[in-house]
Amino acid sequence: RFKGILLTRDDTKAMSVNVTELGLDDLMEGDVVVEVEWTTVNYKDGLAITGKGPVVRRWPMVPGIDCAGTVVSSQSPRFKPGDKVLLNGFGVGEVHTGAYAAYARLKSDWLIAMPEGMDGRRAMAIGTAGYTAMLSVMALERHGITPARGPVVVTGANGGVGTVAIAVLAKLGYEVVASTGRPEEADFLKGLGASDIIHRDELSGPGKPLGKERWAGGVDAVGSHTLANVLAMTSYGGAVTACGLAQGMDLPASVAPFILRGVSLLGIDSVMAPLQLREEAWSRLVKDLDPDKLDALAHEVGFDGIVESAHAIIDGKIRGRVVVNMKQA
Ligand code: NAP
Repeated sequence: RFKGILLTRDDTKAMSVNVTELGLDDLMEGDVVVEVEWTTVNYKDGLAITGKGPVVRRWPMVPGIDCAGTVVSSQSPRFKPGDKVLLNGFGVGEVHTGAYAAYARLKSDWLIAMPEGMDGRRAMAIGTAGYTAMLSVMALERHGITPARGPVVVTGANGGVGTVAIAVLAKLGYEVVASTGRPEEADFLKGLGASDIIHRDELSGPGKPLGKERWAGGVDAVGSHTLANVLAMTSYGGAVTACGLAQGMDLPASVAPFILRGVSLLGIDSVMAPLQLREEAWSRLVKDLDPDKLDALAHEVGFDGIVESAHAIIDGKIRGRVVVNMKQA
């Protein structure tokens, strides 16, 4: 038997978080068993463990949407024992037992081989948040938003998506405007590569349909008024990616930026993204995310730190990324 976190619900639908002993029989079907060596705590994991959002849709559930580890058994020709693998999303930790246990039983179709130049710790320091930041940058590139077009704004700058987006964009030569509610972290954000820091209050209230053109593009993880204002301040022909809802799921915007400035809103989903796009994003992260910047934005906890980190991320108290060493208590 092995250690894991199990979320259960009673008859009144009240949830409990249990650190417990599990067996392989407690894990859902899959053709590959992975020994989980590294995992992480994303915003979505915070929603699952605190019960603040309807992330978990099967009970009981082992939460944890990301893992990196070693294959211990496989019925798939794609993987053999000893292979190093990586998983992000695909409903793991939501509808399929997930990463917060010493072993995970997963579908081989969801796994990617650990990319050349990446290891489990780095991959989980990046995690779904960082890989989503890369998907966002790739979407801006596909839309033709080059550094020459002008600055790119990153909202939720101190968060997981935000910190990785800043580091990658700066390395690629973009001028980055970081929007944050924690201006006291300005030096940290500048260290990652931000050129300008603005207070998130400038963007988080109701705004005008069109504002002064301030940036050519945006990476938004916040939603609600913030995304509406980012769109309203995007210059002619620009584009903004939307991946998150830290402020809210609503979008109180007008069509003015779309029809008067040709601005595009690009939706980003990491959970069901096809394997080819994932592999491209991960190989770009090997190349375009400076390891020193990643070390600066991630901090390590052991298995016992997962629940506390889950509460802290929902309270907006985590800076950057949390990487979990599953071999450490
Ligand atoms: P995170 O580390 O908690 O970062 C979110 C950041 O948003 C916070 O650090 C904070 O930044 C800012 N923020 C929090 N509350 C806010 C509020 N009320 N108003 C304005 N800003 C606020 O979370 P994350 O892991 O980066 O994820 C960010 C969002 O993206 C979440 O909604 C997550 O679910 C979503 N996401 C979606 C996908 C996808 O596939 N679509 C993938 C990954 C993440 P400052 O302190 O700097 O202001």
